[in-house]
This record gives sequence, C-alpha cells and structure tokens, in this order.
Amino acid sequence: MFIHYRTQGIILRKVDRGEYDQLFTVYTKEFGKIDVLGKGIRKISSKLRSGMEIFYLAEIEFIQGKTYKTLTDAILIDKFKNLRKSLPKLNVAHKVSGLLDNLIYSQEQEEKIWDLLLQALENLNSAAFKTKNLRLVYYYFFWNLILELGYSPELYGCAICRKNLEPKKIYFSQKEGGLICQDCFLKTKSGKDINPEIVKILRIILEKSWPTASRIKIEKEHLKPLNIIYKDYLSFILERDNVI
Ligand SMILES: [Zn+2]
Repeated sequence: MFIHYRTQGIILRKVDRGEYDQLFTVYTKEFGKIDVLGKGIRKISSKLRSGMEIFYLAEIEFIQGKTYKTLTDAILIDKFKNLRKSLPKLNVAHKVSGLLDNLIYSQEQEEKIWDLLLQALENLNSAAFKTKNLRLVYYYFFWNLILELGYSPELYGCAICRKNLEPKKIYFSQKEGGLICQDCFLKTKSGKDINPEIVKILRIILEKSWPTASRIKIEKEHLKPLNIIYKDYLSFILERDNVI
C-alpha cells in the first residue's frame, strides 16, 4: 500500500509527458517544491484536470513511488481570477515562479517561503491592488526569499571591516556580502556606490511585514538602481552556486 500525502500547493509549471500525462512543479505548504506526475491528466475524462492549472491554489494528494510522485487527487481552492486577467500581473507571477525554480534545489519544507508565495499571488489577485506596485510585490518576494535562503545582504555595518558606515560614502558589493565602506571599497575595488535611499528601501523590504513595506513610495529615479541591484545580486548567487 502506498501512503497518500495531502497538502495545499500552488502549481508553478507543467510539461507534457507522453500522450496523456503531464509533469507538474508544485510549491506545497507541507513539502516545499515538488515534481508530481499527473497520469492520464490530458484525457478529457480526468478528474484531476480542473485543479491543476498554472498559478492555481489547490489541495493535492499524491503517492510517492520509487522514482517519482504520482498525483491522485486535486481540488481547486482558488484560481486567482483577477491575476489571470492582467498581463503585467501574470508577468510578475511568472517571474516569482522563475525565482523558485532557479533558487530552490532541494525538497525542503519552508513555511515562510510558502507564506511569501501565497502572499505575492494574493496581492496580485486583489482587485484593489494598484499596478504601479507590481515591482514592489516582486522585490518584496525576491529579497525575502533571499533572506529565507540565507543569502541576505549586510545592510548596516561594513560587510568587510564591520565599521559603521558614513552616509554618502557607502558602496554595495554582492561579492563581499552587502554594504561596504569607502576604505574597503578602495582596497578591494569591489562593488559600486549606492544611494542611501536605496539602502533605506532595501531595509524596509527585508525587515518589515508587507502591510508596512507596501506603503513604500518608489521615486522614479530609484527604479533603475533598484532593478540593477536585484539583477546583480541574483546573477551573483546563481553564478556562485553553479561554481560549487
Ligand atoms: Zn570596511
């Protein structure tokens, strides 16, 4: 007898397998990120179909075989209907899903990550949600995911010499693990200068709950540096992990 496992999950990806099957990547509340095979799910008669669309929240049940997990039940909980109606929102959801794909390798249960993912989709789905806050939803997810995975940058003292930082003379180096002082910057030639306003935004994102962080007003001039710092940080983590 196989044990049946039940959990809530958010469907992140599906790929056709053979004539009637599909392999799903699901981020689950109880088991973290898993791959589960939907046998015969592309047949019209399959009762599993209705719960297994991308970005659905569903209660799923599966059995663990020798090599893979097989889906045995899927009950739709939430379609996130409003999210589906907006292309910009869908884009953010895909980017969030891409981060989970690229940064999570093992099947570790991490309830904080589940909460972050659910919160991101619920925010995107909220009818009252303003499109101009889309970037903030994404950055909030990214930096807090980084935090949960143990890659969070140092945002207070200098990451190298631990000295206090002087405003206007701060630099950010992903290689050194966060902010660094001018002396260390000159010595290591690593990183680039960073606007103190960007540091403030990052601190709020990393320390505050979403209701507080969602009130951040991002000035136009800060959009580009925020985007660059996230991209640089992400590429650094991905490259470093590939080397190991
Ligand atoms: Zn220093």
